[in-house]
Amino acid sequence: MSDTDCLFCKILVGDIPAEIVRESEHTIAFKDINPEAPTHVLVIPRRHEPDIGSLAAADPDAAIALLNEAKAIADGSGNGSYRLVFNTGADASQTVFHCHGHVLAGRSMTWPPG
Ligand code: 5GP
Ligand code: ZN
Repeated sequence: MSDTDCLFCKILVGDIPAEIVRESEHTIAFKDINPEAPTHVLVIPRRHEPDIGSLAAADPDAAIALLNEAKAIADGSGNGSYRLVFNTGADASQTVFHCHGHVLAGRSMTWPPG
């Protein structure tokens, strides 16, 4: 259920270091290496799936756990406002093809995104 060429699978097993902020049965969460907000945490499933749609289809419990973890991270930072982003597909700026939600908080944000 992991991909030996996947950056986030390597973070999951500890082969690449990351600043881990939360762990659960189905997920881990770590700080983004290039933060775009005072809080910028990536929540990923332990299971290797390329995006949130395929995770929801393959393992709904893991997808729900990911959403709950995102809220828990946001609850612990900022004022309760947060943005949860799933870039899905190369044209949507996805660069790592292991499902991840970006939890962004701690500053005002504009809409629409670029
Ligand atoms: P995407 O563009 O796929 O939605 O997001 C990938 C995210 O992973 C980017 O925000 C990028 O900064 C982050 N990232 C890429 N490589 C690493 C890494 O080695 N460690 C951490 N912590 N984050 C990374
Ligand atoms: Zn992976």
